[in-house]
Amino acid sequence: METKDTKITKDRILIIDDEKTNLMALNTMLAQDYTIFIAKSGQEGLSRADADKPDLILLDILMPGMDGFEVLRTLKAQEDTMSIPVIIISALDNENDEEQGFMLGAVDYIVKPFKNTIVKARIKTQIQILHQIRMIERMGMIDGLTDIANRRCFDDRIALEWWRAIRKQQPLSFMMMDVDHFKAYNDTYGHPQGDILLKTIAKIFTSAVMRSADLAARIGGEEFGILLPETELAVALQIAEKIRSQVESARIPTADGKIITAITLSIGVVSLIPTKALCLEEFIAKADKNLYTAKKTGRNRVCWES
Ligand code: GH3
Ligand code: MG
Ligand code: MG
Repeated sequence: METKDTKITKDRILIIDDEKTNLMALNTMLAQDYTIFIAKSGQEGLSRADADKPDLILLDILMPGMDGFEVLRTLKAQEDTMSIPVIIISALDNENDEEQGFMLGAVDYIVKPFKNTIVKARIKTQIQILHQIRMIERMGMIDGLTDIANRRCFDDRIALEWWRAIRKQQPLSFMMMDVDHFKAYNDTYGHPQGDILLKTIAKIFTSAVMRSADLAARIGGEEFGILLPETELAVALQIAEKIRSQVESARIPTADGKIITAITLSIGVVSLIPTKALCLEEFIAKADKNLYTAKKTGRNRVCWES
């Protein structure tokens, strides 16, 4: 069964072949299930691979100018294109050519003339493998309970954004958040209810951050972080305050249908334009210190002294 999602985002296939009839035949065969891009030469194929970010490439070998093997070699040597699976579709049917194709990193080799059903089936297999790989990658980065980024994802991203902020001399903001008296909440309503609460506040975090570069993550049990690249303190504080008040006013139903007053959050914010004089650990420690101040001075508040 096809879900709505897969219909909106069809997988993208780039066909590189110098023969118009082949291009048309493949296009007709595949256009219904995939978004198709076409390149009529090896050179054009390389630039399309770069620009169109296909999920899979169908590659002819015999082409004037740059041949398919050369295209494959180049694709595999470039960071941006090296992980795109390539299926060779070629009239060359001797074993040496097939072997060379696989040696250069092709995932499959189909000999022309081909049967539509076989081409379709082999493409489908590669697309399924691709989806599985993506799912595994995603699972390693997503927190199982709250479905937002996990600690590992957060560590990777904050390191990346830290260096980017140094290079671009742009402000980087980070807020660290911890649920107030969560132990008591668990003790009163039970651990499963505590889990529901964590899921609910995670949704508040993801809807509070707007830009695609922003990242909300679960960095510990009941500790969360939001990373806001290229964001000044004033904006970070606005977002922090919005989150604080939304969490405070959230009403979370229990299993018996009763609505219970939710919980509050303490938030420590840090925002600065990083320099090499300061290290990332110190940056994180500042947020942590501000969070501690928020706890100490009464909880349910945002602190940002730097
Ligand atoms: P404070 O306001 O000082 O932060 O008090 P607190 O009770 O929130 O802090 P403390 O660190 O003592 O307790 C954290 C609690 O969070 C204890 C732990 O059982 C609970 N917790 C951590 N991870 C989870 C989880 O995944 N699910 C649930 N339900 N509880 C969790
Ligand atoms: Mg807590
Ligand atoms: Mg804690």
